[in-house]
Amino acid sequence: MKAVYYEAFGGPITMEDVPEPVPPPGGVVLRVTASGLCRSDWHGWQGHDPDIRLPHVPGHELAGEIVAVGPDVRQRRVGERVTLPFVCGCGHCPQCASGNQQVCDNQFQPGFTHWGSFAPFVAVDYADSNLVPLPDLIDDVAAAALGCRFITAYRGLVAQGSVQGGQWVAVHGCGGVGLSAILIAAALGAQVIAVDIDEQKLAFARELGAAAAVNGRLVSDVPQAVRALSDGGAHISIDALGSQETCFNSVACLRKRGKHIQIGLMTGEHRHPRLPMDRVIAHELQILGSHGMQAHAYPPMLAMIAAGKLQPQRLVERRITLEEAPAALAAMDSFPGKGITVIDRF
Ligand SMILES: [Zn+2]
Ligand SMILES: [Zn+2]
Repeated sequence: MKAVYYEAFGGPITMEDVPEPVPPPGGVVLRVTASGLCRSDWHGWQGHDPDIRLPHVPGHELAGEIVAVGPDVRQRRVGERVTLPFVCGCGHCPQCASGNQQVCDNQFQPGFTHWGSFAPFVAVDYADSNLVPLPDLIDDVAAAALGCRFITAYRGLVAQGSVQGGQWVAVHGCGGVGLSAILIAAALGAQVIAVDIDEQKLAFARELGAAAAVNGRLVSDVPQAVRALSDGGAHISIDALGSQETCFNSVACLRKRGKHIQIGLMTGEHRHPRLPMDRVIAHELQILGSHGMQAHAYPPMLAMIAAGKLQPQRLVERRITLEEAPAALAAMDSFPGKGITVIDRF
């Protein structure tokens, strides 16, 4: 089969003939029907993810149909339409036993620990505890939009942030994660303040439900601007980009006892950012992370999507072929466009 492939970090991304996968004993092979392009794929190609072994096939936000099942799989069948979280839990470590597969000690991550879904077929291990059957009402492209950015934003807001209707939620960075967070927070009744440096992205954020927008290029003090708009500060603030500046601003724009949620990946020089810890103490702020979402937490989110209350398909700006993916992946860091890109032809 032809897959998107690279042999060196930062090197050429090409289409190569590679062997079709076979299912691991506890896993399946999926015929990939849709696969989202994510900035994490770009980070992986750049060598920022220690899990990746070369050569590599990226791709971790997917929907597909089961075409082969390993001998130890009990709950899944050939022909089922499924999606999965980008972090698949092993099902037997202490984290999985506590229901926290999103921080499993033995993670299977398609497109990171193993070859991913920028290919016609992908093998997925730990099938019983991670594959999520898709309702007919949710199409493949919408499902592929869930697997990483959307579920991480959902878990950040709902499980980590305990967001309530009427609360102020600030979202710093309006890429895929940020736009997902805006869509979800607005659907849950929060008042959202979108922060970015691109007017086109801010306009799209308003379309998706943001009540207010702050252009970081046009104000001298982003935290102050957010606090002024939100009557003293955000209840929840998300760094959806992952940089020293957006992380600092997110913590600094909170009201007393507010929650900062880190979702944007912190890599390179941004790994250990400077933070206003004086405010964390004096205002009893909370600093939380969100790392995907467990498969068993999907049903309430899928029910909202099936009912039309959450519409991840609105985030999809562009649908491309697999052959177009290498160029699109290499261009991801230039922040083109205002929504997410999904491969839907293989
Ligand atoms: Zn585990
Ligand atoms: Zn992703």
